[in-house]
Amino acid sequence: MTGDTDFDAVVIGAGFAGLYALKKLRDDLSMTVRVYEAGDGVGGTWYWNRYPGARCDSESFYYCYSFSPELAQEWEWSGRYPEQPEIERYVNHVADRFELRRDIQLSTRVTAATFDESANRWEIRTDRGDAVTARFLVTAVGCLSAPNVPDLPGMDEFQGEIYFTATWPREGVDFTGKRVGLIGTGSSGIQATPRIAAEAARLTVFQRTPNFSIPARHSAFLPEDQAKIKENYEDIFAATRTSWAGFPYAPIKRATASVSADEREEILEGLWGEGGFKFLWGGFHDLLLDAEANEIASEFIRRKIRETVKDPDTAELLCPKGYPYGAKRPPIDTDYYETFNRENVTLVDISTAPIEAITTAGLRTTAADYEFDALVFATGFDAMTGTLLRIDIRGADGVRLADAWADGPRTLLGLQVAGFPNMFTITGPGSPSVLVNMPVAIEHHVEWIADCIEYMRERGWTRLEATEEAQDAWVEHVAEVAKQSLFGRANSWYVGANIPGKPRVVMPYTGGQPMYRERCDAVSSSGYEGFKFG
Ligand SMILES: Cc1cc2nc3c(=O)[nH]c(=O)nc-3n(C[C@H](O)[C@H](O)[C@H](O)COP(=O)(O)OP(=O)(O)OC[C@H]3O[C@@H](n4cnc5c(N)ncnc54)[C@H](O)[C@@H]3O)c2cc1C
Repeated sequence: MTGDTDFDAVVIGAGFAGLYALKKLRDDLSMTVRVYEAGDGVGGTWYWNRYPGARCDSESFYYCYSFSPELAQEWEWSGRYPEQPEIERYVNHVADRFELRRDIQLSTRVTAATFDESANRWEIRTDRGDAVTARFLVTAVGCLSAPNVPDLPGMDEFQGEIYFTATWPREGVDFTGKRVGLIGTGSSGIQATPRIAAEAARLTVFQRTPNFSIPARHSAFLPEDQAKIKENYEDIFAATRTSWAGFPYAPIKRATASVSADEREEILEGLWGEGGFKFLWGGFHDLLLDAEANEIASEFIRRKIRETVKDPDTAELLCPKGYPYGAKRPPIDTDYYETFNRENVTLVDISTAPIEAITTAGLRTTAADYEFDALVFATGFDAMTGTLLRIDIRGADGVRLADAWADGPRTLLGLQVAGFPNMFTITGPGSPSVLVNMPVAIEHHVEWIADCIEYMRERGWTRLEATEEAQDAWVEHVAEVAKQSLFGRANSWYVGANIPGKPRVVMPYTGGQPMYRERCDAVSSSGYEGFKFG
């Protein structure tokens, strides 16, 4: 690492987004770039989330970079849904292969970034005492990287072990013979439950909201699967860029009501058998648009839960009701519902009897006391805005991002914020981001940002900023599109509902990739309409 203090760009974060941003800006645009990463390794999500059962829900062969055909050909995925260690190895391979490490400073958290209007540069500070400047600030901080630590009384008093899925110890945890309490039944809790249950003496799962989980149907790849994927990579990647959610499925133009009940059943059964996100995106186009269509798919899943879980009371507790399937981030599981048939697993409903406190011996709900040797919090993230707002970001006139977003995030295309010149937000709120297979969304953003910077450099411009008018129009459009969907109908992290006091706003763009990309292309090809330059 050089002792330089002035860069063309500073990138915050070294996950999928930060690594590609570094590669693109440094190697294609010949910019000087410094990446700061809080973790002591690269990989972002796949560096931090080491809990048992952590794996991707998108399938491996498109949950990866597409920018380098050579990389795609040389990397071998072991199966459909690799576990965390394999994805971490992949990201490390990328860092080595493209010689990225020399420009990444690990174990360094950016604490503040202030825009200097006289120089049109950002001044960036870190918790290690770095003070550097950059023309461009590129945030690659992750939509799901600010862990949500619940504010429960007594957290410091528990005498056993406490773990958070989002910051799992590197050396792993041995639950053998232990009584474990697991709090949270989102995607991470659902992945961890079967693994912990298989090891622990007893597992008690505390559930506030049941989730609609779809079986992953993981399988290892045979050499012929590998060969077929590699032969077809170009088409696979092309399809991910044009589909609604970044998956390589052909676009579906089939309304749920357009087929008979028998046909519908056959389609849903087929998708259930195939496993994965295809259940949401591969059968009917209207599951997130039409409440009646959604209810058909929702009831199908409830029926599967009731068929799987032997104890009828537990099955009923596990059945989500009162919100549409897919309006919360849909988990993908391996034996989640089956795990509740184990003798050593109990489900506790904390929607009716909430957790009051953590005690020295375990925890107390309004109904009972529980004793544990270990507590596992799978309580998710302050999604989409949390990580950015934990940095003291000040734009033009010293305006704090936290103030600009006091009523919810405001961006133009999820890429730029009015009043924060020369700052780009990869997969920022207001872009499809978390509703899309994320490497696809990330590559799109990095490439759009690089084109924009190149456009400025060709003209000798040093400042760019979204106009308030264009941003207002985009925020309104995002809200309008969200209203036409069912996304607002669940208390999900998509709307900030998991964080007390967070403004309730549908944060991702719900119009899908094709419409979004069209907008982005229209903006860039019109000479960046909606942005002002200087
Ligand atoms: C368990 C889990 C499973 C997932 N599975 C899928 C999946 O199957 N499909 C899918 O599309 N998406 C999935 N996601 C979403 C996943 O986050 C993205 O796919 C992708 O990894 C995001 O990459 P990123 O680089 O944008 O962010 P991240 O991987 O979150 O990386 C951001 C990095 O920024 C760093 N950082 C943040 N703030 C600072 C700061 N102030 N200073 C320095 N560094 C900072 C963090 O330490 C982190 O390493 C999953 C997420 C989780 C948590």
